[in-house]
Amino acid sequence: MKNYLSIDQGTTSSRSIIFNSKLQKLCDSQIEYDLAYPNDGWVELEPLDILETVKATTKKVLQDYDQIEACGITNQRETTIVWSKETGAPIYPGIVWQDRRTSEYCNELKAQGYEETVKKRTGLVLDPYFSATKINWILENVDGAREMASEGKLAFGTVDSYLVYQLSKEKNHYTDVTNASRTLLFNIHDMCWDEELLSIFEIPASMLPEVLPCDGDFGTLNIQAKDIPIRGIIGDQQGALVGQSCFESGDMKSTYGTGCFLMVNTKDDPINVDEGLLTTIAYGLKGETSYAIEGSIYSSGNIIQWLRDKMKIFNDAKDSENFINIDGNSNNVLFLPAFNGLGAPFWDSEIRGGFSGITQDTTLNDMVTSAFHSITFQTKEIARILENNKIEINKLLVDGGMVSNKTFCQVLSDTLQKSIIKPENVESTALGACKVAMIASGEDVSSFRDNLTTFEPNNSLKEIYEDNYQRWRKYVVHNLSEN
Ligand code: ADP
Repeated sequence: MKNYLSIDQGTTSSRSIIFNSKLQKLCDSQIEYDLAYPNDGWVELEPLDILETVKATTKKVLQDYDQIEACGITNQRETTIVWSKETGAPIYPGIVWQDRRTSEYCNELKAQGYEETVKKRTGLVLDPYFSATKINWILENVDGAREMASEGKLAFGTVDSYLVYQLSKEKNHYTDVTNASRTLLFNIHDMCWDEELLSIFEIPASMLPEVLPCDGDFGTLNIQAKDIPIRGIIGDQQGALVGQSCFESGDMKSTYGTGCFLMVNTKDDPINVDEGLLTTIAYGLKGETSYAIEGSIYSSGNIIQWLRDKMKIFNDAKDSENFINIDGNSNNVLFLPAFNGLGAPFWDSEIRGGFSGITQDTTLNDMVTSAFHSITFQTKEIARILENNKIEINKLLVDGGMVSNKTFCQVLSDTLQKSIIKPENVESTALGACKVAMIASGEDVSSFRDNLTTFEPNNSLKEIYEDNYQRWRKYVVHNLSEN
């Protein structure tokens, strides 16, 4: 049996896992790192931190496993790094996907009428979330950057691209189709960088990586004197889709990590759903491109992190489970989950978070429960739009750090009144990267099935969740920045 290395570079941590070709996890290593919040709505990371944590976790897992057939990389998407082609050094910290600093610039571009062009070509909305306006910000605000870029001396990459550049023997400047599809610069129909978009965002083509399918040949990972072919790259949410074996049209999964991302595979049909959902590339594998509809929710597990680290309500995320009221009631307390604005379907960069309905009787349980409800209600909001567009949710596969919380899974099922299915291995993202590398190496992953746990909805709570959802929705809409 062959072994594969999966590198999962996430928003809160980097981890490396060795799987065998039966997709059994042999060993793993994970290191958390810190993000910086230098201004309201700004979120940055130190590129060296991600490089060092990836190297350290990979070295750790390689200690006991010599023979590695290939490596797959999955990563936080959209996060933007610009570095010097001469020295390899970043010219500015990485601007993280959650960062909202370019919201004014997005508004200007919308006022100039570019929204439609962008949506048609990229499947995305004109929002600071994606890489293009972040690259533009770096070129405008870092001393000398604009000149260096026009002289062809700067390179841009999402995290996958930066890692491959830094860790491949060949110093390849590559990315894959899923990461490219999140930049606002990639035409998802023609499958190439779009010249008109580059001109709108004033980004020279010389900065961009070459785009390969997910199962492309990305070079040779050189770590601890070992050479490992890099045979897979896939953005984290698409990685989870592959990890959960959502290969058929209509298959869907929802990942609850730092943010929450619900994705539906639409195969070769790039279906356009308005009302704030995205059309994006699901994967490019075995010579074919599949598309997906995505609902991107910015705040999910980071709300739990905030309750732990800033509100000090519990010391460990897993203890949050003890604070959830299971009767569907938060005693009228509502939470607006908008630390950095709201993503799908509201796309409001300026809105910020809040609680409402607090009285003398409000308890910590009510507040924590309302925070969890804000996550399940956001999912319901996406589900409602999908169903309006005739995309039926029969069952929802879930994964990500948060779904180890069983009470949360039950609340999700009660909110949606749907069956929720959780695999034993909730690290679907890393599993997806491994599967991509296996497919590229000629292995068949189609027979893989994980053990599943199903959460069935409690019908008697249907009305109370529906009422609370409607009240929450009103509260959110009332607070949107245009009101
Ligand atoms: P990412 O890949 O975005 O870094 P993960 O999938 O590793 O995220 O999930 C980590 C998130 O899950 C953290 O934000 C953490 O607060 C949350 N989390 C982890 N365990 C629990 C739990 N038992 N209950 C609720 N939230 C949890």
